[in-house]
Amino acid sequence: MAEFSLLEKILIPTYNDPAQIAAGEVEFDYEKCSGCSMCVEVCPADSILFENKKPSLKPSGQNECIACGDCVALCPEGAIRVTKGYRYTKYFRTIDQGAPKPPSLFADD
Ligand code: SF4
Ligand code: SF4
Repeated sequence: MAEFSLLEKILIPTYNDPAQIAAGEVEFDYEKCSGCSMCVEVCPADSILFENKKPSLKPSGQNECIACGDCVALCPEGAIRVTKGYRYTKYFRTIDQGAPKPPSLFADD
């Protein structure tokens, strides 16, 4: 398998590049939240802080929420909602366009 050159390694965008993706966001309803901390445990992106028995989304730069909805599904109090989906930006946006369809040899199929 061909190896990438150093220049290619630098120039080719990756999912770890914050310029290429925009993380999701969730909101907490503190009137409903009981402070059980289960949302913190379940988050696969480790994006929920828990301080003073209150969950909150980590600040921009540390938040890697993928808007999976696991925390919403698990919360026993119905206190969480996803307010923003995970989105591709810049270069990755070009591979995120159009409806999904099976691969084809012909560009316009
Ligand atoms: S799972 Fe729900 S009730 Fe428990 S801490 Fe998270 S938001 Fe609060
Ligand atoms: S939607 Fe998924 S990734 Fe985002 S905070 Fe909830 S569990 Fe974590």
